[in-house]
Amino acid sequence: MKKKKCDHRIWVKPEQKLEINYWSGEEEYVWEEGYWVSAEEDIDTHRLKCTLCGEIGYYSGAAKDHFEGRNVQSWIDETNKKR
Ligand SMILES: [Zn+2]
Repeated sequence: MKKKKCDHRIWVKPEQKLEINYWSGEEEYVWEEGYWVSAEEDIDTHRLKCTLCGEIGYYSGAAKDHFEGRNVQSWIDETNKKR
């Protein structure tokens, strides 16, 4: 079986909520809509990581090159130290 590709987001399930119907004055349960939230969180100023699959993303091409060791930029380490 082929592994499903992670799309780096989490489905927040819809919830039932008690509300008052302003027309009839009665209480009724309504379903709130579900929604997607990003599963990514910042590792530092230039990178983010998916909490589901662990994949690392970069905020810029320069940051990607830096962390993958292709083109090291000293300013990237400097801005991370300041955090
Ligand atoms: Zn992911």
